[in-house]
Order: sequence, then structure tokens, then C-alpha cells
Amino acid sequence: MLFGEVLDYLIVGAGSTGSSIAFNMAGRSKKIGVVERDTIAAGNTGKSSALVRTHYSNRIIADMSLYSLEVFRNFSGIGYSGFTRTGMIFPFDDKYADVARENVRMLRDLGIKEMEMKPEEIVNYYPDINLDGYDYVAYEPESGYADPVATANSFISSAREKGVELIQKRSVSSLDSGRNFVKVDLDDGRQIRAKKVILATNVWTNDILENSGISRGRLLPIYASLHGIVYLRRPEDYSGIKPTLWDPHQLAYYKMEGTTVTALGSLDPRIDEKPVDIHDNLPETADESYVEDYISRIVNRLPSMGKATLISTLTGLYDMSPDGQVICDSLGDLGLDNVFVFAGLSGHGFKLSPAYGLMAADMLSGHDPEKSRFDWRPFYLNRFRDGKPIVSKYSEIGTIY
Ligand SMILES: Cc1cc2nc3c(=O)[nH]c(=O)nc-3n(C[C@H](O)[C@H](O)[C@H](O)COP(=O)(O)OP(=O)(O)OC[C@H]3O[C@@H](n4cnc5c(N)ncnc54)[C@H](O)[C@@H]3O)c2cc1C
Repeated sequence: MLFGEVLDYLIVGAGSTGSSIAFNMAGRSKKIGVVERDTIAAGNTGKSSALVRTHYSNRIIADMSLYSLEVFRNFSGIGYSGFTRTGMIFPFDDKYADVARENVRMLRDLGIKEMEMKPEEIVNYYPDINLDGYDYVAYEPESGYADPVATANSFISSAREKGVELIQKRSVSSLDSGRNFVKVDLDDGRQIRAKKVILATNVWTNDILENSGISRGRLLPIYASLHGIVYLRRPEDYSGIKPTLWDPHQLAYYKMEGTTVTALGSLDPRIDEKPVDIHDNLPETADESYVEDYISRIVNRLPSMGKATLISTLTGLYDMSPDGQVICDSLGDLGLDNVFVFAGLSGHGFKLSPAYGLMAADMLSGHDPEKSRFDWRPFYLNRFRDGKPIVSKYSEIGTIY
């Protein structure tokens, strides 16, 4: 079907975003295709820490995260997400204490199980913790992490069962919007025709647009930043299921994975805001000074982790947008009629993928945004031009938003 008749919808990219869009579109039309340059989740999804939380400072995003958490918790009808409930601890210093307190009220109002914890109660989970800079603590018992590769594969398998066709190891080179359909050129010279195309291609989105004749000055305001994750084997006395510990005071997070591993990640806006060229030969592992730096942060917080041993490191890319939130829009203004984009997830898009998929599917299907579960209009590109970015109250602590 992919190369024969004109498709109703073509989704480009099978990471957590494209796969969730495919899952949410499946059944809405009989002629839907997905093209993936590599394999399912081989992009940034496969590098993700895949933390699933609802603590956000923006009501719209918090609502999307609550919906998504429910999907992860009840995933058996879709497949396997690997969701593991660990709880999460968000300790804030004085600077953000009032904002965080207000957020807890806002999150509870949305129906999120958000609690307050006395800083000294953290010792129930981390007996040797150094509480410096922990003045107000929010606690989410329902949060955890999932398996990003399993999640994307499940979304795609479920979509395929409903007739969605997938082609892997084929790259979209360029797009050309005609009157009746979009012509999609692949790297093997073949062409797919579709009435609507959506790009869920993360940091690679502007490459496709540039190849499609969009001039540099009109490309999407998205850039890539490089993030390292450091995996440690915990010492014996730190084994077991433990809540993820966010450490905004030191601009880091400590994900307790399984019962014996800890993943160290960054909340440092200086890393988020440092663009890298995706065409360079970027390192696939974190460099030594980064590893030492992040180990010293966790040891400062949890001295017992000084006995942990290094397992491995990896790097992945965040597709940063100017306000740290996704751009969900049609590209008609760029001359690409019936081409849509869903990119600029800014390093926190895995946990929101169930909501993103539903939102994008409703947009593609021509639903009324006011009557849809999630209104996509706040995510339009022109929010930057019109001075209406999506506002986070946690402005200097990276991907917490
Ligand atoms: C190190 C790291 C840690 C993270 N931790 C978290 C976290 O704890 N929680 C959270 O919610 N989020 C986290 N994120 C962010 C989250 O993982 C991403 O926002 C999300 O998974 C991105 O999904 P995606 O589908 O948009 O992009 P990708 O997974 O990158 O998928 C895009 C796909 O498009 C394909 N593609 C590109 N160009 C073409 C083309 N021309 N033709 C065909 N296919 C193409 C690629 O091969 C790729 O598979 C993290 C990200 C990183 C890098």
C-alpha cells in the first residue's frame, strides 16, 4: 500500500512521538504509513532516561503528564511499557520554595497525587543524605520510569495490528506539497504520496525542511543539545527500589533504576542552551570531566554513593525549542501545505508521548481543538513571534519546567 495508492497520512519517525501518533491514528483511516530511517526507537527515544512524572509548573503540561501517566500505568491493552513505580522526590531551595508550594496546590487541583514531605523525611529513603539546599520538598508517590524502546515498539505493534504500515531503514529526503497530496521522496529514489504528512523527526526535522527548499532563515527555531547520562552500580547498602531524587540545587537528577543501578542526568540550562551541530561526529559517550563532575554531585548529596562503581555512559540529543515545549503545527506558511510538525520536545518528551500522540492525531484528523482532550493551539509556532511562549515557573532548572 505504501507505494501504491495515495495514503491518507504518513508519519515520519518512529521514536516515542511518531509511534504514539501512529497508535492514536490507527483505526481513524485505513491508509496510514510510518517511515523510519533506522529502527523503532533508534533515535533519542532509545537514549532516554524515560522518567515519567507529573511535577510541572505549567498547568497545560501537567495535565498532559497526568493523562500520560495513566496510559503508562494501564498499558497492558497496548503492550508493554516497562513502567515501574518508584515515586519521586523534588526538593527545592529557598529560591523556589514558594513556587513549588504553589505548584503542589495546582497539581492537586488537577487530580495529581502530589504530597509535601519534610526535608528530614527523605532519610527514610536515603539515610545518609546531605540536606543542604533542601528547604521545601514535594513528593510524587505514583511517578516512576518506563522502558522507552518497549513503549515505542508496543505503540507501533498495536498500530500495525490495526493496519498501519511501517517501513524501516528508509529515510525521507524531501517533501513537495502538490495540490492533492504531498510527494515524499525517499533515499532509495522511491516516492510515497500522502494527503497529510507529519514530521516526528526530532533534531533532524530542519534537515528535511532544508532539503525541501525551505531557506535557512525560515527553518524551525529548534537546535540540538548534547546530554550525557552516567550509569553507576550502587553499593550494597543502596540497593532496592528507591524514588528518583531530583537535585535542582546541584542541577542534576539521580534515577534509581531497577534495584542496583543509578543513572545520573543533568538539569543544567547551560548544557540545554549549548547548540551542537548534528552533522559533526558527536561523541557517543560522556567525557571524563563530565563523569567526574556528576559523580561528585551525587556523592555530595548521597555520600554512600562514593562506593558506587562506574558502569557506562551515553549521550543523546535534546531538540530544544525557545520555551522548552513542543512545536505542533502545520507548515503551510512555509509553503508545505498538508505537512505538519511535532518537534522541539526539549528533553522531556518521552513521558508526554501518550498525550502528544493523542493531540497530534486529533489535529491531523481535523478535529475542533476546543472540543479535543488537548488543545494544540498553545503549541503553534507563532507563539514565539507573538510573545506568547509556554511559561515555566522553574526558569533556571533545566528540564523540570
Ligand atoms: C539522554 C536523554 C535523557 C532523557 N530523559 C528523559 C526523561 O527522563 N523523561 C522524558 O520524558 N524525556 C526524556 N528525554 C527526552 C525524550 O526521550 C525525547 O523527548 C523523546 O523520546 C523524543 O522522541 P521523538 O520520537 O520525538 O524523537 P526520536 O526518538 O529522536 O525519534 C525521531 C525518529 O525520526 C527518525 N528520523 C529522523 N530523520 C528521518 C528521516 N529523514 N526519515 C525517516 N526517519 C527519520 C529517527 O531515526 C528517529 O528514530 C531524554 C532524552 C535524552 C536524549
